[in-house]
Amino acid sequence: MNSNKNLQNLIVDQSQQKSASVTELKKHHLNLKKCTKAPALADYRQGKKTLYLASKKGEVFNQCASLDERYLCCHFHVIHSISNCPFDCSYCFLQNYLTNTTTTLITDTKAILAEIQSKVSQNSWYLYRIGNWELGDSLVFNPITKQTNELIEGIKNFPNVLFELRTKSDCVDEILDLNHQQKTIVSWTVSPDCIIKQEEHGTASLKKRLQAMQKVIKAGYLIGLHFDPMLYFKGWETAYSRLVKAIFQAVSPQNISWISIGSLRFNPEMKKTIEANFPTTKITTPEMITGNDRKMRYVKPLRVKMYQHLYQEIRKQEAKIAPKNPIWIYLCMERWDMWQKVFGFYPKSIQENDFLLVQSLAQRFPQLVSQPNWELYQQLKIE
Ligand code: SF4
Repeated sequence: MNSNKNLQNLIVDQSQQKSASVTELKKHHLNLKKCTKAPALADYRQGKKTLYLASKKGEVFNQCASLDERYLCCHFHVIHSISNCPFDCSYCFLQNYLTNTTTTLITDTKAILAEIQSKVSQNSWYLYRIGNWELGDSLVFNPITKQTNELIEGIKNFPNVLFELRTKSDCVDEILDLNHQQKTIVSWTVSPDCIIKQEEHGTASLKKRLQAMQKVIKAGYLIGLHFDPMLYFKGWETAYSRLVKAIFQAVSPQNISWISIGSLRFNPEMKKTIEANFPTTKITTPEMITGNDRKMRYVKPLRVKMYQHLYQEIRKQEAKIAPKNPIWIYLCMERWDMWQKVFGFYPKSIQENDFLLVQSLAQRFPQLVSQPNWELYQQLKIE
């Protein structure tokens, strides 16, 4: 995958001229422009063609923006080191979220790592799962900047952190030889091939994503899988069954750290934006309802049916190797009753959800994660 083929402008903040990413970019003979002021673009698609290499201003470490105590959140943390993305998914919330659409990559990696260290050292007993993909793709620019390499190599030194990359690319070659010590989980958003072709414009095909998974597993990484957003369309059941089968034919459950499932959701005002940006898409046509978090979702009986189907397909494929401990599978941004309907149980709190995920990792990957302490998790403040 050529991650820079659509880039028309590469702009470097004055302060980043000597950064490792800019040194790397120069090796690719790309035309870099210097600037002292961050470019401000309003047009969503124009912003995707401009990459701005920025210095770190203010804090980048935070809780996942979806955290809402009315839903069973997994208590993930994020670093905002990327904003916008060269891919063009019809369901992407960024099209309604970004005011400055310039694709921005903070290349001040030492400053990012210093902030992470100062935050995670305050709770040394707690395992922070941190990702940099909330506002973009973790790997798509790595072939030309190697900025993600710096993060992987830095974060491996933090004892209480697992770093999750999340991508729809196959840009993994640059990370294969790193000394990652399994502290980085390489995750993919996975969708049936017909959805990739119709709705995830510019991303790697399923075949390429599967090949990339095999490469990182060979290099010793664990992977994560996110069936999110699950989309409803004619033939969805067969398509998702085939998708799960294809994944488990390519990779072993033993290499999968966790799996999340979620369905399409967006703010009501985004419906019009999607229809304007993607006139041929059909993703806005199924019946949807607005939840307490002001997000539109498929009606509940449909979500239950979709989640149950996918969950059973995953467990069916996983059962073929009869694992001692199953993969931790969780729902993203759903309530307690949905967990009960799909999984037959529910964690009683966000703290318990977080604890159970870490406990699963400790049971399955004891070399990587130690047994969590429930007493401490009970006291964890969710803010
Ligand atoms: S890959 Fe993610 S960030 Fe990029 S366009 Fe698609 S949904 Fe948006």
